[in-house]
Amino acid sequence: MGQRKAPKDGDRKVGRRALLIGGTVAAAGSAALARDELARLWWRTPGVEKPRKDGEVDYTGARWVAASDANWRRADRPDDYGIDMVVIHVTQGSFDSAVRAFQNPAHRAASHYIVRKDGHIAQMIRELDVAYHAGNRDYNERSVGIEHAGFVDRPQDFTDEMYEASARLTARICARYGIPVDREHIIGHVEVPGTDHTDPGPHWDWDRYMRLVREARTAPA
Ligand SMILES: [Zn+2]
Repeated sequence: MGQRKAPKDGDRKVGRRALLIGGTVAAAGSAALARDELARLWWRTPGVEKPRKDGEVDYTGARWVAASDANWRRADRPDDYGIDMVVIHVTQGSFDSAVRAFQNPAHRAASHYIVRKDGHIAQMIRELDVAYHAGNRDYNERSVGIEHAGFVDRPQDFTDEMYEASARLTARICARYGIPVDREHIIGHVEVPGTDHTDPGPHWDWDRYMRLVREARTAPA
């Protein structure tokens, strides 16, 4: 068992909330705008969190394994940042080593999902939150990152099961946020501006992957 956190000060939380409401109403000058702003700001107030259930996943085919909270930033997507992209990665290592890396606070990077060769999917960060996977703040804020266990120079690592499981996941993400299924919106890490990463590499079969995503997207749920 780990150390227990100090109990939270409920009264102080209410104090902050009251302060925020007063400030927002005064600044906005319009009740409707104030209400709108309040709905957004409420969750951003330190110490106030949007209700979340432990172990909850955004994709029913995924199993939850929490990443270290040093590797992502709490957000309220798609309300604070719109999501219009999926970024495809390859881990350059095994599934287990990627899980361990994302659990390590010193790693300073992690993706929302990791897909294993047999099609198993781990979700390590909620889609609500900003994962540090693209090496570009804007792209992190607007995208969901999916890792694939394996190495860019080993095409045999990209199995049928992996392609199919990942394509179904990407199709669901695209459906949920209204993301077009095309190569403008489903990109490789290598295509992120400013990156020095090469993944998913030349052996990732984009034509096949995009066809599978389109098929999964139009298939009955
Ligand atoms: Zn990458």
